[in-house]
Amino acid sequence: MLKVGIVGWRGMVGSVLMQRLREGGDFAWIEPVFFSTSDVGGQAPAEAGAGARLKDAYNVNELSALPVIITCQGGEYTKRVYEKLRQSGWQGYWIDAASTLRMQPETVIALDPVNRRVIDEALNRGIKTFVGGNCTVSLMIMALGGLFREDLIEWIYSATYQAASGAGAKQMIELMRQMRHLGQVADESLSNPAVTALEMERIVTAAQNSSDFPLNDLPAPLAGSLIPWIDTAVDGGQTREERKGHVELNKILQPEKEIAVDGICVRVGALRCHSQALCIKLKRDLPLNEIESILRGSNEWVHLIENSPQASFKELHPARVSGTLDVLIGRVHKLRMGPEYLGAFTVGDQLLWGAAEPLRRMLAIVREWLE
Ligand code: NAP
Repeated sequence: MLKVGIVGWRGMVGSVLMQRLREGGDFAWIEPVFFSTSDVGGQAPAEAGAGARLKDAYNVNELSALPVIITCQGGEYTKRVYEKLRQSGWQGYWIDAASTLRMQPETVIALDPVNRRVIDEALNRGIKTFVGGNCTVSLMIMALGGLFREDLIEWIYSATYQAASGAGAKQMIELMRQMRHLGQVADESLSNPAVTALEMERIVTAAQNSSDFPLNDLPAPLAGSLIPWIDTAVDGGQTREERKGHVELNKILQPEKEIAVDGICVRVGALRCHSQALCIKLKRDLPLNEIESILRGSNEWVHLIENSPQASFKELHPARVSGTLDVLIGRVHKLRMGPEYLGAFTVGDQLLWGAAEPLRRMLAIVREWLE
């Protein structure tokens, strides 16, 4: 049995991680110790054994007794605890969902279906900090795997459609509160055939802009709307989320020549699953059927969806992919800009391949390594 400290297990990513650990039978080899930042002494999940209590996630002594810690608690937590723990002399493995440590030289971004070699080399060198990638970046790499492997991509422009759960549990709950609020506001007019669609829109828009609209955790109305800004501002007019596309993708793939990645990240009213509309500049012109066959062979989770209305309506959307490990790529076609320009749309569950799954797999790799 491997003793593993689990922090942030009740958040969005943590809950999905717990679900995947249960589904995969991983608790058969994990002896879990659960931590909390808000309910120390509260009841721990059943896997910790009858009567087990939650430990204090800020207690460095408790944490340092463990050979492996996996955290989905978030960046602020990592900032507050990680350095203290390492400075205390702790030599254990730290597996993290937060972005805080991702770009540090001694940290590896784990996405083992594409960078297992990098992970193994790092373990051999004694690296002990492994972080999951940004959700849109991991999903993009999974979806376009074959094109990266064949070194066919010069640059990518990505317009994202990111789900509310990507911002955390509170934001997703607030989106649902906003939906309920709008549903209630629209209810009367929906049952009155005399009210026109435009009148209903005015009622709903007024509700979105009124002071009693639920708006505590999200920065702007999201139900029936969108938010074209995710995370904080960085240089050059980008957001941090947009910058991660370039820096993390290149850190994960380590191509000979950097692949430029840029775009605009947008929060939309989907509950779960991130989508991206991609404009890809290929290094050379390739027939579409060859590109499709390369995409199909990317990895076992990628499914190429036919570029037709029927297939797109049936398959290519968050409601279809939510809760599955499938990464879908469709709308694949050459763009008007020229034969090397490829358009595509991809959608995947950001809580699975974009967050929990690489961490769960990294934990299994660490276990293999320690055996
Ligand atoms: P989250 O849902 O906000 O959960 C983080 C912590 O918030 C929980 O562990 C819990 O800590 C506390 N919490 C407070 N109110 C809660 C509530 N109503 N329900 C559940 N937990 C609540 O954050 P997250 O989205 O899982 O993200 C965790 C980290 O993963 C972040 O660094 C994020 O950037 C990263 N990440 C997220 C995603 C994603 O799609 N969400 C994808 C990739 C990476 P206590 O139990 O200690 O109170």
